[in-house]
Amino acid sequence: MPNYFTENPDLLTTFDRVVRWDEIVPRSEGKDADVADTVSTWREVLSVAGEYIGSEVAKRARQVDELGVIRDNGKVSLSEPLQANIKGLADLGLIGLSFPKEHGGSGLPFTVTAFVIEMLARACASTMIQNGIAYTAPAAMIFRDGTDDQKAQYLPALARGDISGAVAMTEPEAGSDVGNLSTTASQRDGCWFIDGRKQFISAGNGDFVIVLARSTPGSKGLEGLSLFIADRWVEGEPPPHASPGVAPMRESAATKRENYKVERAEHKFTIRGSPTCSLVFEGTRAMPLGEIGQGWRGITRFMNESRIGVGIQGLGIAQAALVAAQDYAARRVQMDKPIREHPMIAEMLLEMETTVAGLRALIVEAAELQDAVTHGADESTAWRLRELTPLVKWYGSEEAVHTCRRALQIFGGYGVVTEYDVERHMRDALITPIYEGTSQIQSLMAVRDLMRSLLRKPQSLLSGGPSATLAAAKFEGDGGRDFAAARSSLLWTLRGLTGGLARKGGVGLLRGGRQPSDEELQPFMLNAERITETLSHIHVARALGEQAKRVPERRPIFERAARRAKLVAQRNTKEIGAGDGGVFERIADWERDRTSRKSRQ
Ligand SMILES: Cc1cc2nc3c(=O)[nH]c(=O)nc-3n(C[C@H](O)[C@H](O)[C@H](O)COP(=O)(O)OP(=O)(O)OC[C@H]3O[C@@H](n4cnc5c(N)ncnc54)[C@H](O)[C@@H]3O)c2cc1C
Repeated sequence: MPNYFTENPDLLTTFDRVVRWDEIVPRSEGKDADVADTVSTWREVLSVAGEYIGSEVAKRARQVDELGVIRDNGKVSLSEPLQANIKGLADLGLIGLSFPKEHGGSGLPFTVTAFVIEMLARACASTMIQNGIAYTAPAAMIFRDGTDDQKAQYLPALARGDISGAVAMTEPEAGSDVGNLSTTASQRDGCWFIDGRKQFISAGNGDFVIVLARSTPGSKGLEGLSLFIADRWVEGEPPPHASPGVAPMRESAATKRENYKVERAEHKFTIRGSPTCSLVFEGTRAMPLGEIGQGWRGITRFMNESRIGVGIQGLGIAQAALVAAQDYAARRVQMDKPIREHPMIAEMLLEMETTVAGLRALIVEAAELQDAVTHGADESTAWRLRELTPLVKWYGSEEAVHTCRRALQIFGGYGVVTEYDVERHMRDALITPIYEGTSQIQSLMAVRDLMRSLLRKPQSLLSGGPSATLAAAKFEGDGGRDFAAARSSLLWTLRGLTGGLARKGGVGLLRGGRQPSDEELQPFMLNAERITETLSHIHVARALGEQAKRVPERRPIFERAARRAKLVAQRNTKEIGAGDGGVFERIADWERDRTSRKSRQ
């Protein structure tokens, strides 16, 4: 079995020649730290991680998938191979890699841990998500907003893998629309109690859960929300209003009762080893995490970080599919030659290679920005991270699915056979455009921010456009020309859409006199995913172009990415220019239908 770090040339080049360690090390380890020494230690850590993940975790991945989640007499647990993976990661200190040193971790920057996350996702997407959501995410939230007691209680135990947590936002009626959540938190006799139901909670069968709940009675939307930590097992009697069965005694600790119920784990075809749980809270005792009323702020930071995490998950899965397809296409002979020598297959392989390298380039940039922001970087750095986050999530998900689809096709009939892992990669990739904000929600976020910049500075449309990073980028040669053509195509589209907005809403709108109405924004919303696709491809080409300036071997891959960005941008410009295809008429019909049915009721 390969070492997933030392035997992945693109990963090594990224580590050795792309990442700006001279900026990251002093920020993370202090001004006096020896950069070369520190980087060499981190490289060693990644090599150890790559060895363990490429051998042990990868070896158990098929079994993790086959066994799925264990359901025994109503009790939900991880399969043995997944437990073994987590124990192995904990024993090597890999779970606590990003945790602060004073709380049992190694305090490594995100730019380093991103490599581990990618390798884990390549080996086993279920293990990656368990590691991320049961340990890293709750630890980061508690470290950021928790009290000293909370940090001491949870962080070292999480780093050792002794306890696991989860983060619960989603409810049956509140998915993308988080503001619609109805789980409440109320205070009685100085204690907080949670009532409600959470749905689709990864690792929800663990020892505690961080819950987003409405703590201000009567509040609406994203106001009046707070975060709470609820332990699964607590001392004492169940609250009087809890329904029978909600608080059974724990077998191993007869004095403790279950504080919330893990009602079930979903049966699903993707990340099968990861328990996706429904949780029921009835008078659940909980303690606030951070300030009351600041829940939306806390959860937004978690979501932004985990969106980059999902992008990295997509990268790992796409890397796995790419390696499998490259290997198979070199071995499989049809019509007297290896199938990779047939032009259509060769083109697919090149496209997959470009996607993986491009996504990695985008992620490294986002990870570096994330580290800078964690250490208090200025507003423009924070804005660049904000600009990239939905694109990393969108491109990392949608392009991972596309890459797996191509790998499946390259495998022909064997692609659908469970003996080969590509069908698992395909199934696992399909969760990425859904959780942590769907691709449509990422697109709305990306386009809303673009609009905000546009309305602030409409004159940017006459120069390089509303994104300062894209406007400033300049590259030589064919790649540079394709990049510029892609950017011009995007600007052409934005000018067309903004012109329409001005015609509807008047020039005052463009001068920032007022916010556009939902109706005025409809053409932007309809085309949000097209614009996001174009933006992602242009940013991928830009990130690779920047790398090629320092690593000349990256030039061919930059040129391919720039060519693709141009083609994608031109296709989307054409589609957007072709009008709405009757969508708004149909929406109007449905709205009329809904209001007339409502008035008849
Ligand atoms: C395996 C798995 C693990 C998960 N883990 C967690 C977890 O740990 N914690 C947690 O809190 N949640 C978790 N989730 C929930 C996940 O984040 C939600 O499923 C996701 O946010 C989508 O919500 P929904 O399923 O209710 O879909 P909906 O919000 O109902 O969306 C349905 C469709 O409508 C689209 N849509 C919705 N609104 C708009 C709009 N305004 N414009 C255009 N399109 C729109 C969506 O993109 C989607 O295509 C998990 C889900 C799964 C499946």
